[in-house]
Amino acid sequence: MGKLNVQRPTDVPHATDYVESMVDMIGELINRDNAYVTEDGVYLNVLNVPDYGLLAHQSLDDMLSGGGDREVFGAGNKKNPADFALWKFSKPGEPAWSSPWGEGRPGWHSECVVMSLDILGEGFDLHCGGMDLKFPHHENERAQAIALGKTFANHWMHNGFVVDTEGEKMSKSLGNVANLLDLLDHYDPRAYRLVLLQTHYRGPVRIGQDNIDASVNALAGLDSFAARTSAVSQGATPDSEVIAKFREFMDNDLDTSSAVALLFETVRRSNAALDANDQSAASLSAAVIEICRAFGLDLKQASEVPSDIADKAAALDAARAAKDFTAADALRAELTAAGWIVETNKAGTTVRR
Ligand SMILES: [Zn+2]
Repeated sequence: MGKLNVQRPTDVPHATDYVESMVDMIGELINRDNAYVTEDGVYLNVLNVPDYGLLAHQSLDDMLSGGGDREVFGAGNKKNPADFALWKFSKPGEPAWSSPWGEGRPGWHSECVVMSLDILGEGFDLHCGGMDLKFPHHENERAQAIALGKTFANHWMHNGFVVDTEGEKMSKSLGNVANLLDLLDHYDPRAYRLVLLQTHYRGPVRIGQDNIDASVNALAGLDSFAARTSAVSQGATPDSEVIAKFREFMDNDLDTSSAVALLFETVRRSNAALDANDQSAASLSAAVIEICRAFGLDLKQASEVPSDIADKAAALDAARAAKDFTAADALRAELTAAGWIVETNKAGTTVRR
């Protein structure tokens, strides 16, 4: 996660620490007459949840009659086919906890609702998860909260899967790379991040040699852009129109692919402005740096240049200012010999690898 520049979660709860709270919640649901005990467990009566099916975008009637594309499997002793288990009585040898209704274990959907309401409280902002969890898992988490008379997540986000070029779950498509950890060992971890950003989060993310290579190249381009423009972008106010557009895209259900297109368009505009010695180069390049920072793409800026090299670049500028071109050429040759690319423009000299 560190390599991907992803922050660690504050809490990583274990369901086994919450079994008592789950038993309390199930008891409350029975008290409210929204759950009932059968011979194999305790079930939630989904008919008591007025808008059951909200996340699946299907009405209960459709689900019950099989009219939707999600079939609901019935079990003999449930009141309604769509009712789901809150507590399952254990068979001999299975892990079990005690409850007023008999030894057993909580249903999967009950674990999450108890933990999220306990840690985040009612009406928390955002509930995320893979597309495959929308129904029945998230629908059923939500149904329990509603049946308890509680407000659950204000927003839901369901992400698509990472797939290979054939649309299959990512596996052997990248030669020696079989999983994400491998990918991060073999390629610039930022490249994976950029590929994700180029796809809408709800869509499948296709990972192939071509788009990983393209991302590695794009990042090298962004790094050299950051190094080349560090003198003009530092301290400049990011172009307000570009930033406003960026926010507009991000506010539109995280339209990161349009935002990435805006990023590269801004790089092109900034380069053109630099070449034309136009002063808009400063705010445009500052906008590029700002967007990259918001995306969590840490660019390798000139600040990573060792101090002796930076001193030589500064000496080169001083020599040019003093019109001592022999000294300037000698310094340039030294820097080049040490493996640095030296670029000089109106703003001064920048060096990069
Ligand atoms: Zn969950």
